[in-house]
Amino acid sequence: MDCYDAAEALSRPEIAQLQIGRLRRSLAQAAKSPFYARRFAEAGFDPESVHSLDDVGRIPFTTKQDLRDSYPDGMLALPHSEMVRMHASSGTTGTPTVIYHTQKDLDWWASLMARCMYMVGLRRTDVFQNMSGYGLFTGGLGIHYGAEKLGCLTIPAGAGNSHRQIKLLTDFKVTGIHIIPSYALYLHSIFAEIGLDPRDLPLRIALVGAEPYTEEARGRLQELYGIKAYNSYGLSEMNGPGVAFECQEQNGMHVWEDAYLAEIVDPATGEPVAEGELGELVMTTLGREGMPVIRYRTRDMTRFLPGQCPCGRAHRRIDRLHGRCDDMLIIKGVNIFPMQIERVLMAMPEVGQDYQIVLERDGYIDNIRVRVEIRDEFFVEDMRQLGALQKRIAARLRDEILVTPKVELVERNSLPKTEGKASRVVDKRESGA
Ligand code: ADP
Ligand code: ZN
Repeated sequence: MDCYDAAEALSRPEIAQLQIGRLRRSLAQAAKSPFYARRFAEAGFDPESVHSLDDVGRIPFTTKQDLRDSYPDGMLALPHSEMVRMHASSGTTGTPTVIYHTQKDLDWWASLMARCMYMVGLRRTDVFQNMSGYGLFTGGLGIHYGAEKLGCLTIPAGAGNSHRQIKLLTDFKVTGIHIIPSYALYLHSIFAEIGLDPRDLPLRIALVGAEPYTEEARGRLQELYGIKAYNSYGLSEMNGPGVAFECQEQNGMHVWEDAYLAEIVDPATGEPVAEGELGELVMTTLGREGMPVIRYRTRDMTRFLPGQCPCGRAHRRIDRLHGRCDDMLIIKGVNIFPMQIERVLMAMPEVGQDYQIVLERDGYIDNIRVRVEIRDEFFVEDMRQLGALQKRIAARLRDEILVTPKVELVERNSLPKTEGKASRVVDKRESGA
């Protein structure tokens, strides 16, 4: 196993031993913040009472609401003057939450990120283009500092401006990129428009994350670009990217357990789920000094993958994220995750690179309408052929989600695009529109 640093190669017992020591330190550090001092006191929890990882269940949770309530700096565990940077969550699901970092925190984060990049085969000789938004969003600077730490020539391209992205990729012989999946699918159509095949470029590795996507979408990206695409998971509350990352096996993401304590709980009860069961990921920072976050309810649904990864790393793997618990749609009493819809669509060759899910109310009945971009070569004049395709898509979706959606076929690039994370679900039920 070719590792970036020693902690990456720790054995299971070494990880457990390191974790308990770091957890105790992290709890003590957290208790210096006004928020945790109060929270621990109110819960009658003594951070000193944690002696083994079996005690973790007694530690109070932290929720997104707690972070909002302690806005702007109620969770700082060190004086304000020690902080050198702040980030905020992208606000996908409401008011943003703010996270502060000391210089030491930033250095550790950059090392974790560099470790991820090294693991998938990037080296200092690579040219790396970061195509995610900079600013408060952690996918910008978070990835950027990791790439520089590794020693790559790093291009801070930022989000959007597709023609310029393609020019940079081409002119600077870029070999590695960081890109959001929905944007990567869209960008391919711009390549097609200008008559360039990205497979002819030296590009070989993409870090792909920040939003859910399916194995089918990954397959497409690898095929369209002629690259390996690695899943990258992170959230601003836990720094950002660099929390869990796929190795070259491309089968689940290793959580860096020297830096984070990960648990999976039943979102309804907060109790741990059985080994390998799906549940909500709960995470604790094990080394952040400026603003430790303890047992954070991520609302992201996943499971631990059983067994040892063939790559040899002992850091446990989590499964591809199935979306957040609050992403779940309930239509006609059936629970549906948007990713189930994506999985069906991305497996059909006629379907293009984007789709939208519209929830509507028809009298008292909720309906789901799926607007699907169709590849140019299949967008034919023949109404019968299109009608047949529409029916086929509806039937496949029904098999997966158990509700028959209305399917609408639309032309390439006719659905709204965003610069950051895709927002593919439109709920028209409340407004009655
Ligand atoms: P926000 O919560 O406002 O989107 P963040 O930028 O912190 O702010 O986003 C973190 C969230 O993005 C995660 O909690 C998760 O829901 C999602 N996410 C990040 N990476 C992935 C990934 N690889 N797969 C699925 N979801 C992801
Ligand atoms: Zn592995």
